[in-house]
Amino acid sequence: MSTLALLGGTPVRDRLFPAYKVIGPEEVEAAKAVLDSGILSKFLGTWHADFYGGPEVQAFEAEWAAAFKAGFAVSVNSATSGLYAAVGAAGVGPGDEVIVSPYTMSASAAAALVYNAVPVFADIDPATYCLSAETIRARLTPRTRAVVVVHIFGQSADMDPIMALAAEHGLTVIEDCAQAPFATYRGRPVGTLGHMGVFSLNYHKHIHTGEGGVVTTNDERLAEKLQLIRNHAEAVLAAKGGTADLVNMIGFNYRLGEIEAAIGRSLLKKGPALIAQRRANVAAIEAGLAGIDFLTMPTVGPGNEHVYYVHVLGYDAARAGVKRDTFVRALKAELKPCELREGEGPLVGQGYVKPLYLQPIYQQRIGYGTTGCPFTCPHYGGTVSYAPGLCPNVEHAHATIITHELMRPPITQADIADVVAAFHKVADNLSALRDWERAQG
Ligand SMILES: *Cc1c(COP(=O)(O)O)cnc(C)c1O
Repeated sequence: MSTLALLGGTPVRDRLFPAYKVIGPEEVEAAKAVLDSGILSKFLGTWHADFYGGPEVQAFEAEWAAAFKAGFAVSVNSATSGLYAAVGAAGVGPGDEVIVSPYTMSASAAAALVYNAVPVFADIDPATYCLSAETIRARLTPRTRAVVVVHIFGQSADMDPIMALAAEHGLTVIEDCAQAPFATYRGRPVGTLGHMGVFSLNYHKHIHTGEGGVVTTNDERLAEKLQLIRNHAEAVLAAKGGTADLVNMIGFNYRLGEIEAAIGRSLLKKGPALIAQRRANVAAIEAGLAGIDFLTMPTVGPGNEHVYYVHVLGYDAARAGVKRDTFVRALKAELKPCELREGEGPLVGQGYVKPLYLQPIYQQRIGYGTTGCPFTCPHYGGTVSYAPGLCPNVEHAHATIITHELMRPPITQADIADVVAAFHKVADNLSALRDWERAQG
């Protein structure tokens, strides 16, 4: 049995993993054509034909809407912008509560704060790590206005019961699809299962334009509000006319550039093939890890097609006899980083982000200004808890899961064999690792 790299042995892997590089000659051509045209953005922040952006932006939106079977697609410059615009379009304001998952990127919850509303964190379903109708129901109050459901790690929440609950209580449901483009639920693409769906095109996502995002909806009124918030609503309303109300019509500049839109159009075509490769790679990894009894493979929810933004493994520390963090440390020592992300070390992690309610902003209740708004807003009569222990399933998941990204194309079968070999090598050396752990104190 060979010695663990952590204990001075030779690592399984001796070279970097390949970069996830989705930009190819087609995207270079698309970007160059925009540069040659001289029109890098055509948006005008006044009521004019160009209020809706230039030719690439408008074509990208039409193609995105078709690909995701949405009535409308509104491009934005990030998913963060998209979440903020969506919460604004939902009419959320002071005194309202927005129910959100604590196991997500921070912007999913910050979007409520931007509109002076209070994020209320509901627990996750331990099988899918997403909110469920039951966990949302447990947090409903007369102040609940909207729900941000995050399709975390690449699969959909169980949306039918969530939408039934939302209909019963008049709630707007925003899907955060940043980690799940092209994922489907009962044959339907995510993004139009709720009232609005928000996608990310940032550098780390399945398809990316550097920075960027898209909001999808089937509701024409919401689409109009999204377009207004994206582009200086308050400056446009009087001339535009026809808008029902002034609620949340403070506009921002969330506009996507023409180069990003052109790259996005090209990558939209490549998305399904990139995702098929991820799925095949995950299947190979799971087959390779099948014999390791203290690891559990992710549960794919009924009716879900998972797109694996990350691959999440359950780790049973009692069974292994070694702490999760020790196991991950030994695993990382056997592996190497990915090209273009060398500084991050091997793309293997212990847990995901800390449950959001444990961030200082919620613990200390300082949102904007110094007065404690929105938590102490005079319009807010509720009492929200951010106490440790609030969402036990999230806290348990965070303490026990292992995540990795070593399924991203163009990883090869030989690369995957190294990943699997590294897991087995650590699993075969647990008693040595246990001694090492003990010696660390
Ligand atoms: C990446 C991400 C976002 C934010 O995306 P940006 O485009 O970087 O603003 C939001 N939510 C989730 C779940 C994400 O993973």
